[in-house]
Amino acid sequence: MGLSRVIPSRRTENIRYAVRDVVVLAQEVARTGKEMLYLNIGDPNVYDFQLPEVIMGPTIEAMRRNHGGYSPSSGIPEAVAAIHGDAVRRGIENIQDVFVTTGASEAIEICLTALLNPGDNVLTPAPGYPLYTAVLAKLEAEENSYFLDEDRGWQPDVADMASKINPRTKAIVLINPNNPTGSVCSEDTLREVIALAKAHGLVIFADEIYDRLVLDGERHISIASLDSEVPFVTFNGLSKCYIGPGVRIGWGVASGPRELMADYIEAINRILRSRLCANHPFQYAIRPCLEGDHGHLPPVLEKLTTRRDITVEKLNANGISCVAPKGAFYAFARLEGVRDDRHWASELIRQTGVVVVPGSGFGQRPQTAHFRVVFLPEPEKLHAAYDKITAFHQAYRNP
Ligand code: PLP
Repeated sequence: MGLSRVIPSRRTENIRYAVRDVVVLAQEVARTGKEMLYLNIGDPNVYDFQLPEVIMGPTIEAMRRNHGGYSPSSGIPEAVAAIHGDAVRRGIENIQDVFVTTGASEAIEICLTALLNPGDNVLTPAPGYPLYTAVLAKLEAEENSYFLDEDRGWQPDVADMASKINPRTKAIVLINPNNPTGSVCSEDTLREVIALAKAHGLVIFADEIYDRLVLDGERHISIASLDSEVPFVTFNGLSKCYIGPGVRIGWGVASGPRELMADYIEAINRILRSRLCANHPFQYAIRPCLEGDHGHLPPVLEKLTTRRDITVEKLNANGISCVAPKGAFYAFARLEGVRDDRHWASELIRQTGVVVVPGSGFGQRPQTAHFRVVFLPEPEKLHAAYDKITAFHQAYRNP
């Protein structure tokens, strides 16, 4: 047949990841010599946050002890036991399985893959983290978005969730604290979501990767701790709360009645075995992280609180409004007088060098426009960026 063009698969056509997609334009603008201010990267190590010793020490030691081979597919026993213990301390009962993965991302991908057939759908938050959209597209499953309510501090709209359930709905994804809004779910909301899952036989995927990055003394509740009858998988890892996104260590905790979950857990484990294991040396950091004193956290939370306050103060003026985030390191600000936030964000990058991600990349109610900022940069940089954003927005609305 001879040589021919390599045709990518159909399932890749709808894969988008807005967070990295803006980088292409930003790189183009940076090449022109413009000074850039990056408020788009959810990576603390890019800013003034350090990989903590509690990760480095045990990992280097593990490498010296020659732990560079494969590990068991679910992870080394001491890490699995530490994750199990941490889940029990959070109040999660009926734990059926624990597995260590290459970031929470891999746990999410494996758990969706083990559950869904083409044409099935999953309730995902809008706004929410675009990995879910990308994985669902790859699996030829449908994203079934439910809205978060901006005027209720971005709490999930459970009535909207309920109205969207259909016979092909298999699961609910809850991101708490949420990316991109920084909202933290109330206990009432969590209980309503559980009631819905119970009534319709749905699995709950609880993405709690920001659970220790909660501000103002707010309490984070693991949804799986509120019920032992619904099947849950809770995702977490070292990326955010332990300042190690490049470490690529995450995990899943499956909890719920054994008889409901046995086949599903076996399917998850078939995939886990086929991809061998997660990064072996870094798994030795899991137990020290989870069982240690978390001494790296207070300074992190202090910085985040100051930077969140600057964000809320400066992004609530002149046609921009922003619900105060209670957790994580993101704010999702609303734009008045803008129809297409992709165009707005592209122009912002071109004209000011400030890089943010347009709201449409995360999902949002129709006829609204937003942008996400990462408030990890130092205060001076945030002030400079927000001044540029507000001036740009004025000019954009009144050309
Ligand atoms: N889940 C959410 C809500 C996230 O925001 C992110 C990263 O930004 C991830 C999962 C990915 O986590 P990991 O780095 O552990 O793969």
